[in-house]
Amino acid sequence: MKIVRFVYGEKIQYGILHETDITVIIGDIFDQYQVSSQVIPLDAVKLLSPCQITKAVCVGLNYHGHAQEMKLTLPKQPLLFLKPSSALNHPGGAIQYPKSSQEVDYEGELAVVIKKEARNVQAAEVGDYILGYTCANDVTARDLQRIDGQWTRAKSFDTFLPLGPCIETDLDMSSKQIKLYLNDELKQSSNTSDLIFKIPELVAFISETMTLYPGDVILTGTPSGIGPMKDGDIVTVEIEGIGRLRNIVTQGI
Ligand code: MG
Repeated sequence: MKIVRFVYGEKIQYGILHETDITVIIGDIFDQYQVSSQVIPLDAVKLLSPCQITKAVCVGLNYHGHAQEMKLTLPKQPLLFLKPSSALNHPGGAIQYPKSSQEVDYEGELAVVIKKEARNVQAAEVGDYILGYTCANDVTARDLQRIDGQWTRAKSFDTFLPLGPCIETDLDMSSKQIKLYLNDELKQSSNTSDLIFKIPELVAFISETMTLYPGDVILTGTPSGIGPMKDGDIVTVEIEGIGRLRNIVTQGI
């Protein structure tokens, strides 16, 4: 099942995505809900990020291929950082180039969407705490990351966290293709089977540090092939079984 969040008229709603339409969901997708009989054409709505977050917990250096590309030794534990809720962006939303950066990179990533409050969860029990999966772009001001050492500023500009287009709730994501296109040119191509730390291990490790809330996301790291974007570029993250997350890059204000 593919869950979307969208605006139709003035109202923000959840629904189940089909080829050309959406069936409206009534209730709380993280708890109790019903599938209504109301169907809305897909082209009549504006899709939003499929969940709202209190935080995005991100994993650095988590694909073998990316570690080789960066000539870095494999980490012994997941390296974590955060993106704030204010960075959230939508399918089709503009990624705004900050004035303070000359080098904004894409990073296509698989995101895990948390279903219920998770604290000290064991790896074997992680499935109960995951609602599903979506596509993410961990947009990064690479020049500022190098200047600062700490990653917070480089990763946290408004619009630097596009998510979507949907939450896929049923698929096993342990071996799915992940690709990123810049203006339809393939830039990243890998498989989630190349992850160094797998999803159950990540959720368990993170929940040992901080409580995860419904709607929070975990960005599982980017494969090899990262690179810069410029004003006017269209960037698309595509994950097998989920769909395509497409955004345009614009000069910020
Ligand atoms: Mg990343």
